[in-house]
Amino acid sequence: MSKYPVMKNFTTRSLNIPFPKKDPHNALAMPIYESVAFEFATAEDIAANFRGELPAHTYSRTSNPTVEYFESKMKALTGAHHVLALSSGMAAISATMLAICKQGDNIISGKNLFGHTLALFEQSLSAYGLETRFVDTTKPELIEPLIDENTRAIYFETVTNPQLEIADISRLAEIANKHNLLLIADSTVTPPSVFNSKSLGVHIEVMSTTKFISGGATAVGGVIIDNGLYDWGKNPNCLAFSKKFGKDAFIARLRKNYYRNFGMPMTAHSANYMIAGLDILELRVERCYRNCMKLGEYFQQNPKVTRVDYPGLEDSPFYDLAMGQFGGVPGTIMTFDLESQAACFQFMNRLKIIRRATNLNDNKSLIIHPYSTIYAEFSEHERGEMGIRPTMMRLSVGIEGAEDLIDDMEQALKTA
Ligand SMILES: *Cc1c(COP(=O)(O)O)cnc(C)c1O
Repeated sequence: MSKYPVMKNFTTRSLNIPFPKKDPHNALAMPIYESVAFEFATAEDIAANFRGELPAHTYSRTSNPTVEYFESKMKALTGAHHVLALSSGMAAISATMLAICKQGDNIISGKNLFGHTLALFEQSLSAYGLETRFVDTTKPELIEPLIDENTRAIYFETVTNPQLEIADISRLAEIANKHNLLLIADSTVTPPSVFNSKSLGVHIEVMSTTKFISGGATAVGGVIIDNGLYDWGKNPNCLAFSKKFGKDAFIARLRKNYYRNFGMPMTAHSANYMIAGLDILELRVERCYRNCMKLGEYFQQNPKVTRVDYPGLEDSPFYDLAMGQFGGVPGTIMTFDLESQAACFQFMNRLKIIRRATNLNDNKSLIIHPYSTIYAEFSEHERGEMGIRPTMMRLSVGIEGAEDLIDDMEQALKTA
């Protein structure tokens, strides 16, 4: 950050991060470089580039100027050592796992996970001999007994969904560091305007930029953030790269063996949406959060609502961790219950402003009944274990006016 003047505010900083190279036309917005290949002046130059001695863009599956600018913004805004932008949040998670594990290795993961991450760990990676040991990360004392010499990482989500549970991140970092393990956080629901993973000791952050960052659900994407806190010589799969690249070992290995060879790049067009989304991220998050608090109060005083969960509410068991770790903004997803599944369905069908959809952190408020949709394939017992109740709805709170959201709820509840 020393290259830039000191700017305290996230939005001011986002708006003023310089392009990696000066634009020949002095464009104020980063152009979308929709070009696959990039030319070199001489045969000697292109040879030097391929030897790694003349850094430049060559081919957009490996790197692209618009994507690079998005990466440089994320890096400056988070204070990270490196940021790599990929085609999706799932690409960020799968590339990370492939880069740090080999056959026979294991990771320890929080048991309440985004559905496709759970499927990746249980079905896709297990086929390559990578084992996942699941644990309740809100009970860190359960983690150490699961660690053995083949354990490479502890993985968790900053706020689980839809359970809305929060682990003590510094405590997880302590355990990871004691055993030379990586601590990897999926921070999709706690955006960088309110959450700094580096300050809490997280080594690697993975994030679906499809959600908060793109803003308005305009493009699919993901990032891997290397906070520069881990000695890559301590991971046997990164050791060779560590000898050659030192602190840059992880991103060098990722770029070469996974990003490039598996073909996981973010496109220039998607990067353009992410860049625009970042500039107004802080404003959107603040508005969503204020809406969450107003809706929380509304639900708490409404006799038809039998239960409301949001870690930003003072009576939440996770309130103190939410205040300490996420600048008081523990995501903007909340859940609430009505007396029965039938009442939930009737209520949802009568909503006029709040949309019925499965995405998160859109500008629009989105509602879903997880029990009958995302978790429909699980048995009743499994759903019970995961805290997925037939009476519960998940609300991803958007940037509409709170009065309109409450009016919509009110008219839908009257008949529920
Ligand atoms: C959406 C999501 C993902 C996956 O991201 P995609 O961009 O859809 O691939 C991963 N983790 C969490 C917590 C998510 O909400």
